[in-house]
Amino acid sequence: MRIYLMLAILVAVTWYAVSRIKSTFFSSSPCVNSLEMEKDPVCGKFVARDTAVVKKAPDGFRYYCSHSCASQDALAE
Ligand SMILES: [Zn+2]
Repeated sequence: MRIYLMLAILVAVTWYAVSRIKSTFFSSSPCVNSLEMEKDPVCGKFVARDTAVVKKAPDGFRYYCSHSCASQDALAE
């Protein structure tokens, strides 16, 4: 009888862990999108799109770590 109790606890713990991982994964996926990293073409640092200085360039949008990097890029507007 004891082994069944231990099995039940094990299943419950596993189920709990899996549901926690699932909920963490699904709730964090929009954050992963917003934390997409872009390379600063001036200094080579990776910056999050959320916090980057964004400028339009002929080849699309460019992301910079700071305004000083953005102003150093002659290609951007
Ligand atoms: Zn930079």
